[in-house]
Amino acid sequence: MKTAEQLDSEDALRFLREYYDLPSDRTYLDGNSLGALSHAVKEQLRDVTENQWGTDLIDGWNNHAWIDMPLRVGEALGGILGARPGEVICCDNLSINLFKALAAALELNAPRRKMITEAGHFPTDNYIAEGLAQLLGPNRCQIESVSVDRLRDTDLSEVAVISLSHVDFRTGTLRDMAGITALAQKNGALVVWDLAHSAGVVNTNLSDLQVDMAVGCTYKFLNGGPGSPGFLYVAERHQHAANVLPGWMGHADLFAFESSYRPAGGIRRFLTGTQSVLAMTAVEAALSVFKTVTVAALREKSLALSDYFFACLAQDPSTADIDCVTPRQAEQRGSQISLRLAQGFPVSQALIAQGVIVDYREPDIVRFGFSPLYNSFQDVSRAVRELEGILRTQGYRDPRFQHRPRVT
Ligand SMILES: *Cc1c(COP(=O)(O)O)cnc(C)c1O
Repeated sequence: MKTAEQLDSEDALRFLREYYDLPSDRTYLDGNSLGALSHAVKEQLRDVTENQWGTDLIDGWNNHAWIDMPLRVGEALGGILGARPGEVICCDNLSINLFKALAAALELNAPRRKMITEAGHFPTDNYIAEGLAQLLGPNRCQIESVSVDRLRDTDLSEVAVISLSHVDFRTGTLRDMAGITALAQKNGALVVWDLAHSAGVVNTNLSDLQVDMAVGCTYKFLNGGPGSPGFLYVAERHQHAANVLPGWMGHADLFAFESSYRPAGGIRRFLTGTQSVLAMTAVEAALSVFKTVTVAALREKSLALSDYFFACLAQDPSTADIDCVTPRQAEQRGSQISLRLAQGFPVSQALIAQGVIVDYREPDIVRFGFSPLYNSFQDVSRAVRELEGILRTQGYRDPRFQHRPRVT
């Protein structure tokens, strides 16, 4: 087996790490929850405060085209996601965009009213679906929860829309977007994909796969910063649907201040209110790295990192038998590995105390996220080495590792 140093020296993408501010004493494997800060983001935020807002005040909306940011940043995202121009906007957050997408899909597919959401979906996705169902009532929306492996055996002939994650946030399993989209469409159902854990690290090819709609966030592998805006993709053929949250930013003529709503053409109609220029600036700067690297190259490195993680685990008896809920097959894996450990929470805290930043998800999962933009093979080997030490010495038994902060 090659050493981590060897693999790093052969890594054609290793120069990208220099673009990020990473504390030298820590190994950051939580880019699947919150991506790292790039120098480009720092500089652009300084520029927008000092030279744009600070100097031009209200004129910034025109002078710096702030007003176009949701569409402009949407175009940049569209390139990364494999969408056609005019199919993506950057706005609100994933939850709100999902509400809009599910409502639009139900409208497009009326009188069908059945909505399938995956049983193990991320909580916000199910809460949003429940909220929409309550609002619309049972004549227009009925939810059925189905596990993804049962989808092929489920009768979809009366289903209006299916809400699914591309990558399962707990297990890191990558779903067959092409196959499921085709299956749904054959049965006349639409799919809204949640790309939270795939955007930027897995090829999504939205246009080629004829994906109907998708939502995602920019603060995970896209490194837009804590709480940065979400995005919404609506295939051009579906853009005549209504926005259930019609706001002035999606109006056909926003500065006419008309008393009634008239939707803009195209993807713009899915905007609601005013976006944070500071937050959009951070996202735009964070995405600039994608001018120098393709998602395909990042995917290849991501898989090499997670393959190496598996290889390192297998080397030591105290880690070789850990129950791993992430599939070993590359094509079924996103960019994280989830280990199931009886003492998962204290183990995650002990790792963090040793400088290996991971996170924990109930009931017993420790997640190791690999960001191919800035993680190295040495990060991977260090993480496994520390894990091995903690398990061998039972260092996780220290009472201080029982304390639960509000955000885990
Ligand atoms: C992170 C994440 C979200 C978060 O939604 P927000 O509206 O940005 O808070 C939603 N879905 C999945 C699958 C996620 O991983």
